Amino acid sequence: MYQPVFSGPPTPEEFHRQIAEMMRQAFPQAGVARPQPDAAATDGDDSGEATPPAIRFDKKPREVKAYLDRFVIRQEEAKKVLSVALCDHYHHVRMALEGKEQPNYAKQNVLLVGPTGVGKTYLIRSVADLIGVPFVKGDATKFSETGYVGGDVEDLVRELYRRANGDVARAQYGIIYIDEIDKISSAPNVTGRDVSGRGVQTNLLKLMEETEVPARSQNDLAGQLEALMDVSRRGRKAAGTINTKHILFIVSGAFPGLESIVRKRLREATIGFAAKATSVESDFDAMTRATTRDFIDYGFEPEFIGRLPVRVFCHSLSVDDLFSILKTSEGSIIRQYEQTFAAYGIEVLFRDDGLRRIAELAAEEQTGARGLMTVCERVFREFKFELPSTEVRQFAVTREVVDQPAAALRRLLAERADAEQTMLRQIVHEFGERFQKEHGLLLRFTEAAVERLVGLARESNRHVREVCVERFKDFQFGLKLIAANTGQSEFTVDPAVVEAPDKALSEWVVASYRSTDKNPAS
Ligand code: ADP
Repeated sequence: MYQPVFSGPPTPEEFHRQIAEMMRQAFPQAGVARPQPDAAATDGDDSGEATPPAIRFDKKPREVKAYLDRFVIRQEEAKKVLSVALCDHYHHVRMALEGKEQPNYAKQNVLLVGPTGVGKTYLIRSVADLIGVPFVKGDATKFSETGYVGGDVEDLVRELYRRANGDVARAQYGIIYIDEIDKISSAPNVTGRDVSGRGVQTNLLKLMEETEVPARSQNDLAGQLEALMDVSRRGRKAAGTINTKHILFIVSGAFPGLESIVRKRLREATIGFAAKATSVESDFDAMTRATTRDFIDYGFEPEFIGRLPVRVFCHSLSVDDLFSILKTSEGSIIRQYEQTFAAYGIEVLFRDDGLRRIAELAAEEQTGARGLMTVCERVFREFKFELPSTEVRQFAVTREVVDQPAAALRRLLAERADAEQTMLRQIVHEFGERFQKEHGLLLRFTEAAVERLVGLARESNRHVREVCVERFKDFQFGLKLIAANTGQSEFTVDPAVVEAPDKALSEWVVASYRSTDKNPAS
């Protein structure tokens, strides 16, 4: 066996070499942990067997949009453009799989522009679900030029492979979504930073064009261990490479300041002519007029931006939009709350005034629909904690509840306690009535006695009827004696009787004999 010699901490390279050596000795049949120069030969099939086409796509843009409408509220233009791009892309992929690829086809990679929380990711995740392809989301700020520090752009492709459960063919038709792309613009004057944006753009460009990415990273230990596990688990050669030619890339960002670049260009274009009313249009409208030139001025390489031919703009969400999201989106967070409470047998009714108030407060957060989650979490935090342990079975979410959740919860619990008290009291009186029916003798409970019985039930965690039965067990015999002695048929039960029923009964019986002695007929 390999015996590592420890003479101080090894350098990363030495450590890597030692581990690789150890693995080679432990699994001599594996022959992995060395880069596989012929891995590309497996191209799309890591098992050596023929893989059936991974996707069957026959949708039309209207169908895709109709599907998106169920989940994503507003963003009409974005949904349309995206539906067309998606259909184009996956029809092309299908043709390619059938061997009828159009030459010179330009991949419909998408550039999504819009503020945070307005449904950009949600759009893409939803289409990936519809088409049934793996989907991965990454963040451009995590990548560094060299890939040694932070993440490597190729890791996204490998993640896609993992999401496809190790199916290279499926991974090759997946969707990679990269957010915060505006942060890798290489013009520091726009974003205030320059994280070697140009280098990252170049790396991404390679992926967006066509490149082969090893399914297992050869640069890190985890990747090599995974490769080794592959071999020992499945008894086959390590996974091959993933070709990125048909992977759809979608990049997005808020692009603050882009509107100024557009306005400046439009202003310059109109010099000498009668000034157009370009300055009065909203920032969003200005952004939607952005051209390739404007994105280059923003700090993107022409080749990079050129690989993103589909431009989609998502607008910010108004209070009305947020209200519609809550009320009509199939993915509304409200469904989540309904289910959470339903798990405890509690029914929640969201009234429109409550939903509107949530939407109003969420709009103040300025984080798009994400604000809805923040507000709901704040409003329902205590409800989620308290209600499952109470007898509350339903409650309505109104404007007051959203504005003053703590007070509303207190009121709800107090109302519930009142209702419960009333019900328990009725049970005690009902016990008295049944007693009368069965024995012809009336037990008249004072309010204080009822309170005491309810209290005893609570203290011993039993039903109040059970406590009554126990306390007044065999009372009919004593009471019938009294009735025979005195003719009395109504008996008042006060807290002292509840406390010591047998003592009270024997005193009553004794007294009844005394009264017979004195006055036999009374
Ligand atoms: P971003 O635009 O930053 O990618 P997301 O798409 O991740 O925002 O939105 C966060 C969450 O807010 C989504 O998961 C979804 O529940 C909700 N959401 C955002 N925008 C919409 C929308 N237009 N319609 C319905 N739900 C939305």
